[in-house]
Amino acid sequence: MTLALGIDLGGTKIEIIALAEAGEVRLRRRRRSPQGSYVDTLNAIRALVLEAEAELGAQGTLGFGTPGAISPASGLLKNSNSTWLNGRPLDRDLAALLERPIAIANDADCLALSEATDGAAAGASSVFAVILGTGVGGGLAIHGRVLAGPNAIAGEWGHNPLPWPSPSELPGPPCYCGLRGCIETWLSGPGLARDYRDATGIERQSPAIVAAAAGGDAGAEAALRRYEDRLARGLATVINLLDPATIVLGGGVSNLERLYTSVPALWQRYVFSDTVQTRLVPPVHGDSSGVRGAAWLGRYRALAAPG
Ligand SMILES: [Zn+2]
Repeated sequence: MTLALGIDLGGTKIEIIALAEAGEVRLRRRRRSPQGSYVDTLNAIRALVLEAEAELGAQGTLGFGTPGAISPASGLLKNSNSTWLNGRPLDRDLAALLERPIAIANDADCLALSEATDGAAAGASSVFAVILGTGVGGGLAIHGRVLAGPNAIAGEWGHNPLPWPSPSELPGPPCYCGLRGCIETWLSGPGLARDYRDATGIERQSPAIVAAAAGGDAGAEAALRRYEDRLARGLATVINLLDPATIVLGGGVSNLERLYTSVPALWQRYVFSDTVQTRLVPPVHGDSSGVRGAAWLGRYRALAAPG
């Protein structure tokens, strides 16, 4: 049996999954992430991997999904919200600790790869995956492989500016990246909550806004409509640039079902084409997409470069 092990390194939990050849789940475990300690994090990962392999009686290929990216310039992790991992050679340390080659990509790349391999975008030649959560990320899978460039930022549309802004959307909210009006400041869960608060004076998190809109609250409904139009604009620029066959949404806000009909109806106006055939879909594997994508990442790396 060839095992593909995937590990999702989250800020609060570390999850491991073992997939067999056709994607069947052989094992799955979660553990709380050690907070604040790089060495404790490495040791927790090592223990999870060795325990899984002992239980399954086989060694696996290894892929990791993490917020952030290994900087090609420095070889060190950057942009992770698990800040104790930043500035560390995470990929080299994991490979040394686990005594085999490993592959690593960010959570949006893993979502794209998971859904392109055996999920909502199976068979699609190009997939753009979006994370709409605490932040806004993106990743690309082209012909079933993650697109990786010299800056390790392919698909990072969250820090592009919101396109076709109205005067009321300028200059836009300040973003932690140092700029203003980034897509993330509008389309993250906190961005939706801020927009709703600015318009109504009411403090609510995004799930409560969604619930209020479903219950007929006019202010919440208006906030969701603004959100949908902004998402349509943001995705239209991606379609104009890359023309992906399928766009998959992940992250907490992607659970809002109406997005999958409302946004394609709205993006038609912004995309430079007479018709838009691009599919907008939720992930088949739901919250497991990140860890499954990590497993496929390790498998494909091993196939490409055995040993
Ligand atoms: Zn930004």
